[in-house]
Amino acid sequence: MSKGSLIVFSGPSGCGKGTVLKEFFASGGEAFYSVSATTRAPRPGEEDGVQYYFLTREAFEEKLSNDEILEHTTYCGNYYGTPRGPVYERLERGENVILEIEVEGAFQIREKCPEAVLVFVMPPSLSELRSRLVGRHTEDEETINRRMEAARREVQMASQYDYIIVNDVLEEAVEELKTILRAESLRTSNRKKFIDEVLQYDA
Ligand code: ADP
Ligand code: 5GP
Repeated sequence: MSKGSLIVFSGPSGCGKGTVLKEFFASGGEAFYSVSATTRAPRPGEEDGVQYYFLTREAFEEKLSNDEILEHTTYCGNYYGTPRGPVYERLERGENVILEIEVEGAFQIREKCPEAVLVFVMPPSLSELRSRLVGRHTEDEETINRRMEAARREVQMASQYDYIIVNDVLEEAVEELKTILRAESLRTSNRKKFIDEVLQYDA
C-alpha cells in the first residue's frame, strides 16, 4: 500500500481550482479535501462546513492561539487557514489530502511538511482569468480588480511549485491532476512499506 500524498493546490482566484477539483471528485478521483476556515462572508450557495468553516475574527484568532491551524494567511482582508487535525489523521490513514490554499500558505506547508507536493493551476491567460472572474458573478468590480492584482503576484511564484497545470480544457486539467497523484503514489518514499512487505515473505 502507498502512503497518502499531501497535495497543495494553488492558483489565482478564478483560474478554476474549485471547478477542477469538483470534476476530479465527480470522475472518481480519491482524496480528502481539507475544508479551510475563513473569516470572509459566504458567497451565495456556500454552506458552513462544505466550502469553508465560516468563522468570526475572534473565533479564528482563538484557534490560532490554540495551535489548531496548520498554516494561515490574510488574503484581501480576511483570514484563511487549514485546520491541523484532519490533515494528519487522513495522511496517517494512507489517504491523499488536498489543500486548496494560496501561495504564502503553500510555502508555509513546504517548510512544515517537506514531502508536500505543490501544484499550481494557471489560467491560459490573464485576460481569460478576468473573464472567468466576471463570468462567475460572485464579486464586484473592485474585488475583481484586487484579485487580478493578487493574481499577477501569485503567477510570479508559479516557478517555485513542483507541478503546473494549465486549466484551459477542463477535462485535460483533471487528467493532469490524476497523473500527478499517480506519479506521486509511485515515489520510493511512499513505497517503503511495500519493499519491507516483499522482503518479509521470502520464497
Ligand atoms: P477558483 O476556485 O480558482 O476561484 P472557479 O472554479 O470558481 O475558480 O472558476 C471560476 C470560473 O471559471 C467559474 O465560473 C468556472 O465555471 C469557470 N471555469 C473553470 N474552469 C474553466 C475552464 N477550463 N474553461 C472555462 N471556464 C472555466
Ligand atoms: P476564495 O475567497 O476565492 O474562496 O479564496 C481566496 C484565496 O484563499 C484562494 O487563493 C484560496 O486558495 C485561498 N485559501 C483558501 N483557503 C485557504 C487556507 O486555508 N489557507 C491559505 N493560506 N489560503 C487559503
